[in-house]
Amino acid sequence: MNYTPEQKEKWDKALSYIQGAVDTFSYTMWFKPLKLYAISGQTMYILGANSFALQHLKTRYGSTLEQAMDKVFDIQYNLEYYGPEQISLIEEKLSAAQSTLNRKYTFDNFVVGDGNKFAYVAAAAVADAPSEAYNPLFIYGGVGLGKTHLLNAVGNYVLSRDPSKNVLLMTSEAMTNQLIEGISKKNTAELRARLRKADYLMVDDIQFLGKTKVSQEEFFNTFNDLRENHKQIIISSDRPPRELPEIEERLRSRFEWGLIVDVQKPDYETRVAILRQKAMDEGLYVPDDVMEYIAQNVNSNIRALEGSLASLQARSKLMGAPIDMDMTRSALSSLVTTREDRKIDCPLIINIVADKYGMEPADLTGKRRSQEIALARQVAMYICREMTDLSTTAIGKAFGRDHTTVLHGCEKIESGMEDYGFKKRVEEIMKAVRDD
Ligand code: ADP
Ligand code: MG
Repeated sequence: MNYTPEQKEKWDKALSYIQGAVDTFSYTMWFKPLKLYAISGQTMYILGANSFALQHLKTRYGSTLEQAMDKVFDIQYNLEYYGPEQISLIEEKLSAAQSTLNRKYTFDNFVVGDGNKFAYVAAAAVADAPSEAYNPLFIYGGVGLGKTHLLNAVGNYVLSRDPSKNVLLMTSEAMTNQLIEGISKKNTAELRARLRKADYLMVDDIQFLGKTKVSQEEFFNTFNDLRENHKQIIISSDRPPRELPEIEERLRSRFEWGLIVDVQKPDYETRVAILRQKAMDEGLYVPDDVMEYIAQNVNSNIRALEGSLASLQARSKLMGAPIDMDMTRSALSSLVTTREDRKIDCPLIINIVADKYGMEPADLTGKRRSQEIALARQVAMYICREMTDLSTTAIGKAFGRDHTTVLHGCEKIESGMEDYGFKKRVEEIMKAVRDD
């Protein structure tokens, strides 16, 4: 099987969510025949009944499906659709995805800015030579900010200098899946040997190692073994080690033995530089004002920047016209409005409020009652009520509390806002939520 039971469960959930959102005929016609074939890395391979149906589904309902998946899965998958005659093609891609590096991602085409400088320097250093002090190198940060790119860059660089080196890059999901498969076939020795032979072991998206105890155990042993033998370990994650509650303490603390670096959202200048780099990679001519417009309007992550360029490229090809501002405005109108209408939800608000108060999101949802934390928590509740359509019960849930606590918190903030300074402060945080 090419996915975990949890993933299948989420897939089913997404489909039943769609079932509730579209009419019965469309659901039966277009969605019901779909099968989840595999999830590998950031790609979801979806099997349909035939290529005509898939074509229609993609153009008419592609975004419905994407949105449903985004709702239930923690990562944004690229959805790829295949007909039954294309299974061998999927299989080919899957085997490639499991062990080989993506040659496209190198240090040369990684644009360095303030947000990723430290991660870049550290990755380049361990690529040069494994380092005791940087072992493991732990890179964390939001989605689409270059973690996978950096891991591949290390691998490609190492192999370019010494092709005999054993470089292994896998997602923690792939590792878990292979392990589970090994266990069911009573053959875990093979995977174990493969992991221990690595000169560089890179585990992408370690946050998914969580749920299965065996994979943590296995990784723990491999980790110790490699480290003792001075082999380099690099780990990526969407958050720092201490925020990975599903990972056992002994493993988490080992992640902190080496160097922890983060990647952050690129600033405006870096966004422009990245667009330049991508346009060059694609041999695409893009005028400066277009790059600036995109950099101003698309500021969530780098994958979104790439997506904008790709949609311009497609449009320009389709219309046989060069890329200009008019084309850009209309091509990106959906993206730009998505940004404006994008979903403001409790987790987002909790993150921003925590950040503004110099706390961790977990402080706001946790049990602690110090005055400082209680205030920040109430501000967050108030903003949730003001900026989302959620009921106080739903908001309470996000904080692990009941609706009376939310009501009480909102009242406290409302009366507190009679103070001008405090009111300004709350408004400033609300602006940060809106602009995020
Ligand atoms: P993550 O693994 O952090 O989710 P990725 O490494 O997959 O993000 O990056 C998403 C896309 O953005 C990739 O196509 C990658 O090449 C590109 N990208 C990310 N950071 C940079 C950068 N600093 N310079 C150039 N391209 C980048
Ligand atoms: Mg990644």
